[in-house]
Amino acid sequence: MRIILANPRGFCAGVHMAIDVVDQVLDLYPGRPIYVYHEIVHNKHVVNRFRQRGVKFIEEVDEAPEGSIIVFSAHGISPAVRQQARARNLTMVDATCPLVTKVHNEAIRYARQGFDILLVGHADHQEVVGTRGEAPDSIQVVEHPDDIPSLRIRNPNQVVYLTQTTLSTDDAAVIIDALRKAFPNIKEPPSSDICYATTNRQAAVRQIAPECDVVLVVGSKNSSNSVRLTEISRNAGCPAFLLDDVSELRDEWFDEVRAASGAAGHELTVLVTAGASAPEDLVAELCRTLIGRYGKGAAGGIEQRDIFREDEEFSLPASLKRLMREEGKGDDLDSRKIKVGSYDLTAEAYGAIPLTVGGRSL
Ligand code: SF4
Repeated sequence: MRIILANPRGFCAGVHMAIDVVDQVLDLYPGRPIYVYHEIVHNKHVVNRFRQRGVKFIEEVDEAPEGSIIVFSAHGISPAVRQQARARNLTMVDATCPLVTKVHNEAIRYARQGFDILLVGHADHQEVVGTRGEAPDSIQVVEHPDDIPSLRIRNPNQVVYLTQTTLSTDDAAVIIDALRKAFPNIKEPPSSDICYATTNRQAAVRQIAPECDVVLVVGSKNSSNSVRLTEISRNAGCPAFLLDDVSELRDEWFDEVRAASGAAGHELTVLVTAGASAPEDLVAELCRTLIGRYGKGAAGGIEQRDIFREDEEFSLPASLKRLMREEGKGDDLDSRKIKVGSYDLTAEAYGAIPLTVGGRSL
């Protein structure tokens, strides 16, 4: 089997930051229960690893006892949730990704200016619920072009669209085109709301999938950006499967592809990638298992295809820095950054040392 590893894949800076926040809070308050509102990031393994360290994940603020510590997840929250936490005298730590906060700030600004805001996204996604809560009277969610006729618009010259950060860029383009047709004067956000991590991971799959037989995406079923990677692959004509970890790998996936190709001895080319919340150790384990089961293939190993090298970095959230200062931890907090690092590509972890090659630049 020929294995291509997509780069970038896996943890984005926002996910790194959110995980780091919970780590730091656990260090700050050893022995005290830590409550996280909603899954810190949408990944089963990340959540379970924190559960094993005593973190409690809750879906309602009143599940946290009065006076306890609550961390808000990377997806962001509505002001109503913050008020509920304040009313319970909870110590709040906000791990919202700064790129989600950017969309919240846009929503607040346009609502103040009297705009009708059309939020393109999935209505039940935690991020959209949080953004909508910033200005519920001004925001309507658009999931599909079919939603457009039922929108209630006060002034067609004062309409703006915003988007969820983790949408498929292809699907968003279709909806935005339909919005532009319906409201020719619609305003767009100052810069794309679909974040760099979503855009880059999708672009890598869009570029590499056409030369592959199968795409495997490591990620959880409730991870929007992971699901979108499977859709992008299928749109590019390549079957794609989403798996939380190697235990979900199925031989039948490859058998079906081989049968469809009509060539029993055909060496399969498999693209391995991961959603922005999937830990890299699970990607490495998948590569090891593929090599163990199906061999290293004619190429003799793994090829990491470098489409983008990411160098995003985020600062620590202000709410965490405040608590760390109160506890006397760290003098360099303002200069500390959370960066997307490169992976240590060892044969021990991956089953073969990935040979890194540059992709066609986009
Ligand atoms: Fe932030 Fe994008 Fe990562 Fe979500 S996927 S946490 S918006 S960088």
